[in-house]
Amino acid sequence: MWRGSIIDKIMEIEIMPLIKEKKDIDFEQVTTNAVELAKRQFKFSEQKLYRIKENSESKVGNDYCILDIHEANVPYTEEQLQNVYDSVKQIIIGIPEIKMPNGETVLTFLKKASFIVPNLRGWSFEFENIRISPQIDLFMFVENKAVVLDWKVSESAVSDYSRQLVMGGITVMDTYRKKSEAGTGKRLTFSDIRLLEVNLFKKSAVEHSFNKEVVNECVDYIYLNSEDIELLTEGKSFDQLNIEDFPITDKEGTCFFCKFRPLCAHILTNKNQYHEETYYNSFQAEQPA
Ligand code: SF4
Repeated sequence: MWRGSIIDKIMEIEIMPLIKEKKDIDFEQVTTNAVELAKRQFKFSEQKLYRIKENSESKVGNDYCILDIHEANVPYTEEQLQNVYDSVKQIIIGIPEIKMPNGETVLTFLKKASFIVPNLRGWSFEFENIRISPQIDLFMFVENKAVVLDWKVSESAVSDYSRQLVMGGITVMDTYRKKSEAGTGKRLTFSDIRLLEVNLFKKSAVEHSFNKEVVNECVDYIYLNSEDIELLTEGKSFDQLNIEDFPITDKEGTCFFCKFRPLCAHILTNKNQYHEETYYNSFQAEQPA
């Protein structure tokens, strides 16, 4: 996950600004900058500087980082750390080789873009009192089409990010509907919006469909999930809920990928009791001497 966040940051602060200014990119230099950024982030996390109240993410900027190996004492080896740096280098240096589904390189495609906005947060759409605010890695216009693009570094062969991109597409469509009503932009139809997933690790680019059917499916999914949550919580706030009222999942696979696994295991083995200090000490005890 850390590797993914370093790559996202480098795309946002180094590569996309150069593309925006139609400048050549020295990928060797970008690689060096990315590893230096990763090392600064590691140091920031290692020194636990994020615990200092004044060191908010907005004040510290790009070097802000909290790694579970420091905050929760999750064990790691120097080799794993080196692998992150090596993998960041490999991913960045391989970017010029990535091709779009039509055969042109991703860089050629990006250079045709106008109105480039990396790391678009802020835009959202509301449906049945549910507000969805997806993070869009890159929004731009290419050849008169609005493009929602997501950078991925996942190694999995089965990951499916299409729904995430569809949510981005709906957000763009809704934002431009509001713009057209306010007289500040033109309304976009399904065929005006393209959804692209570029996997920088696998060096592949995939275009996902954006039409009425996929939007309906996605909206149903959001609605069913929000209804499930509502049914489970009966509309109570977090403070009013009792953990013992909820069963754990019966799917082991879900637990395998769950980022809350250490915390969940700790709570289960402690009869649903949580005490912060005991939790941290349990990690400490697991650390090799
Ligand atoms: S590990 Fe995660 S998915 Fe599994 S029961 Fe705990 S919280 Fe649920």
